[in-house]
Parts: sequence; structure tokens; C-alpha cells
Amino acid sequence: MIKLENIHKYYDSQHVLKGIDFSVNKGEVVSILGPSGSGKSTLLRCINFLEQPTRGIIEISDKRVDAESASKADITALRNSTAMVFQQYNLFKNFTVLQNVMIGLTSVKKIHKVEAKKISMEILERVGLTNRLNHYPSQLSGGQQQRVGIARALALKPEVLLFDEPTSSLDPELVDEVLTTIKRVANEGNTMLVVTHELNFAREISDRVIFMEDGMIIEEGTPEQLFNRPKAERTKQFLRKAI
Ligand code: ADP
Ligand code: MG
Repeated sequence: MIKLENIHKYYDSQHVLKGIDFSVNKGEVVSILGPSGSGKSTLLRCINFLEQPTRGIIEISDKRVDAESASKADITALRNSTAMVFQQYNLFKNFTVLQNVMIGLTSVKKIHKVEAKKISMEILERVGLTNRLNHYPSQLSGGQQQRVGIARALALKPEVLLFDEPTSSLDPELVDEVLTTIKRVANEGNTMLVVTHELNFAREISDRVIFMEDGMIIEEGTPEQLFNRPKAERTKQFLRKAI
């Protein structure tokens, strides 16, 4: 479903991604762990060209894009195959919950309002927000706002869902409701890449876990392999500190 080949990213002279290669199969849930500053967010953002990768090839389904010769149409195609859930929710403050979910459908996917509303209501029901349709983001808890963020991503029916530390901005007591929602999404057969600091959660939902440090993949494996029998010394250190 996704294939990355030798992705490099520089910010000016800073080499932030140093040749990333990996693939994600259809329906697979892959978590990315690693210390702060290791390039996890940059990697997710390079997949949909929120950041322009400096070099490398990104493949999603049948779309294969070389970063150095990507056309506008290529970038649009990659963007339309993905949807991202951000740490800071990134909701429109002046839009209601329902409008926040509908807007991607009406503006990006050009779906008629009536149909967009129907799809959005169904998805908001799945994330447990039917009783908040006409609320504004400021009237919601952080956990509810993030569930709107998840609903907005799901509504687009992307080939790949990208989560960038979806619970890091939340007060501890609100983390569980969001993790539960993401678990449900994972169990529905969606293809997902999830950057998270929640190790137990990563262990539970992932088919595969990737450990990144300093712009490189240090190690990857099943949760069982990576958490119970890490090979690399740096993975062991990270897990020891994180526990
Ligand atoms: P992580 O998500 O693993 O914490 P990031 O991908 O955010 O790591 O950052 C990796 C490195 O790239 C860091 O050194 C960070 O300071 C740098 N960086 C990230 N975004 C930018 C940017 N927009 N401009 C310049 N440097 C950036
Ligand atoms: Mg980050």
C-alpha cells in the first residue's frame, strides 16, 4: 500500500531524514517510535508532501512519485490518498463539529452537501459525537476535539491514515477515549501509520513497530520482537527509559 525508498530530507544544511526505506501492506497498522527530534513527524509529513522530501520515492497504491520530479498532479494524488490526524487537532475554530467533518468532503472531494452530511453524521456516530454536531471546537474537551480530527480523517476514506502523536496534547484522563477510538479504527482494517509515545497502545494495535533515531530506522519488527527482544542497543536504551 505504501512504499518508501531512500527518503532524505534536509532543512537547509540539517540532514533530518537519512535514507528511510519501508513498506506498509494494505490493512496493516505500523507504529513509529523514537526520541523527540528523530524525524518522525517529518517522515509522516513527507509521505503526503506537507513537507517536500529532498530525495527519494514515495509509492501509495499505484501512484509512484519521485520527490525530485514530482508534479503538482502527483502531489495532489498523494495528498488525496492520505489523511492525517495531528497532535494539535487543527480543527477550524469557526466551524461546528459537523462542518469540520463535512468540509473535506465538499471542498476536496466535491461531494454534494446532502451526501457529505450523511457520511459525516455516520462517522461522527462511530466516534461517539452524535450529541455534539453543532458545537464549536472551543466548546469541546481535548479528547472530543481529537475525535473530531479522527472523524474528519475517516470521512475522506483515505487509502492510508497517518497519526502524529494523536494523544500528546491531551490531559492524561482524556487519553484513553482517544486511544480506544483509534483502536477501533485499527480493527476496522484501515491501513495506518501511527507515531506515538504510548508504548502499550503501540504494542496492542500494531502489526509492526519501527524504531527511529537520528533520521534513520534503527530496527523494525513485530511488537513481540521489538518490545521483548530488541536487537539494537539504542532500541533497548529507548525502551528502558520509556518504561
Ligand atoms: P520528531 O517528530 O521525531 O520529534 P521532527 O520530525 O519534528 O522530529 O524533527 C526532526 C528534526 O528536524 C529536528 O531537529 C527539528 O528541529 C527539525 N525540524 C522539524 N521541522 C522543521 C522545520 N519546519 N524547519 C526546520 N527544522 C525542522
Ligand atoms: Mg513529532
